[in-house]
This record gives sequence, structure tokens and C-alpha cells, in this order.
Amino acid sequence: MSNSTFLQKTLAGETSMGLQYCLPNGMCVQVLDEGVIRFEPNDASSSGLDLVVSCGIHGNETAPVELVEQLIERILRQELRVKSRVLFIFGNVAALRAGKRFVEEDMNRLFNRSPEVEDGPEKRRAMMLEMHVGRFFGSNTTPRFHYDLHTAIHGSLIEKFAIYPLPKPGCRFSATEIARLSLAGVETVLLQSTSSSTFSYSSNYKYDAHAFTIELGSARPFGQNTGIDLSKMDAYLSGLIQGQLPHPELIPPQVQIFRVSREIPKTSHDFKFAIDGKTDNFTPLAKGLTLAEDAGVPFVITEDDARIIFPNPDVPPGQRAGLVIVPARNYLAEQ
Ligand SMILES: [Zn+2]
Repeated sequence: MSNSTFLQKTLAGETSMGLQYCLPNGMCVQVLDEGVIRFEPNDASSSGLDLVVSCGIHGNETAPVELVEQLIERILRQELRVKSRVLFIFGNVAALRAGKRFVEEDMNRLFNRSPEVEDGPEKRRAMMLEMHVGRFFGSNTTPRFHYDLHTAIHGSLIEKFAIYPLPKPGCRFSATEIARLSLAGVETVLLQSTSSSTFSYSSNYKYDAHAFTIELGSARPFGQNTGIDLSKMDAYLSGLIQGQLPHPELIPPQVQIFRVSREIPKTSHDFKFAIDGKTDNFTPLAKGLTLAEDAGVPFVITEDDARIIFPNPDVPPGQRAGLVIVPARNYLAEQ
């Protein structure tokens, strides 16, 4: 076996579908696609959970990619005993090679879509990744998890936060899952209010996985991520891989939960934020503040304890220029 890591081989274009093989400790490995690798205990029927960990859906977000690289290598060196079924995904390999967010278009807007005639590298990869996730979960009835790991290109007052996809009709946001995220060092959760085209939304909607988009700090090139502490995420994922699923009963008091109150619509080219358009995620917005003006119409904050997230005044008219979010602990209890 060569000394380069699975990530290095992937970036060098040396990974493609291969045959399954098993290590002396009884753990079986199969490369399913470029940058996609599956591990299973040899008696997969005894596995207690199915885990998907994806990263690099945006190619410039390298801290989680380095974390996943190390998890894979520890498994291959048999330092980590695999007792769960695990699928690791390096998402946008072409963008990872280029050190860019994407090649043609933002891949995390391309999931959960009906087939269309347009083609492109990211559209094709997103479809293939959805298919790999679907095949991986198959018809197993064990608990399903998908953590899609990112770092943010935007400044944020809160370094680590998760976006919890809107549950399917008849389903609820789960306090247990939010408590589990806190064990992974993610103590802020934003509850989504609409359907979306993200990888995590797709895994929940199509495959009933507990799925989350997780932001872990700010995006930097490979080798420059020492400022991001992923030790809790590392320990949490290592535990899941070894078949240890924690069952926390309560959400710790320091965990902050938000939900979307309103989208900030951009209807015209006259749209202007009254605040700095590059303001940090989670910046508080005072009640009564005129946040933006669009073709002479003011957008006023009417909510108590509102904050802004994902502000972007440069989107085309017809899209949203950001979200106003509000605290949602009570909402979670009452849903
Ligand atoms: Zn991202």
C-alpha cells in the first residue's frame, strides 16, 4: 500500500470504483466512486447505525476535509475499530483540487431536484452523491445519520452552528439530535423553515436520515486550519464509527436554537442594506431598525431578539438577500 492518504489519492485522480476488500481486523472497505469510500464491519447486520460524513461540497472549505482524511486513515491503519457502517464523501473533488468554492456553480443548491436537461460537472456530481447515499442506506432499518461538514466564507459571531433541515410533513425537529450535536461541539442550531436544495435536506427528505449542514468555522486553504478546534467533532464521529451512539436526554442550557422568522426579499436592483452588507452572521438587529430598502420600500425589524444570517445584497433580484432569525427554544417544545 502506498503512503499517500485517500484524500491525496483522490486529489491526484487515483480513486475510482474498486472491489471490496477486508482488513485483518474484519473491517471491509470499498471505494465506490472518486472520493467516496465505504467501511463496514464484516458482519454488517450487527451494525447499530449507518453514518454518512460528507465534506468539501464547497472546495475551499478544507478544515472538515482534513478531519475526514484523518478519520479515514485511522480506520485504514486499524486504529479505529469500525462497528458501524460508514460512508465518507469528498464532495466537489474538482473544486477541492482548484481550491475554489465551486467550478461552475454552488453544489449545495443542486440536491433534491427533479431531473432536468441542463448538464454540468456539479449537477452530475450532486446526483451521483445522492445516489450513493441512497444505495448506502438501502433498506436498512438502523438509525441513519448524515453530517455534511462545512466552514463558512462569511464572518460569524458564532463559530460553529448547524442548519437543521425542515422535517418532512408529519415529522418534528428532534431535541435528541440537537443534544447530540452539542456533544460534537455544535451549540447553535438554526431550524429551517422551508424545503431546500442542500445535501442534508435531500438525505432527510429522500432517505429519512438525521441530516445536518454543519458550519465549523471560517474557510481557509489546506494546512491553515490550526485555528479551528474540531476535537469534539472528531471524538463524536470516532464514537459513532465505533458504534457508540450517545442518548442525551436534554438539550444543555447553553445551546442556542433559532428559527427563520422572515426571508429578506430582493425585488429590484435598487435593493440596499442599511447595515454593512458583509455584516457577520448572527449580528443582533434592534427592533424598529430599518434593515434594508428596496425600490423605496423599507424592510423594518418587527421581531424581538432578531438576528441576521447569510446577508448577501449581491444576489439577483427575485432571490433572498438574507434571513432574519429569532430564538426558538419554546417553538421546539411546542411544535
Ligand atoms: Zn460550505
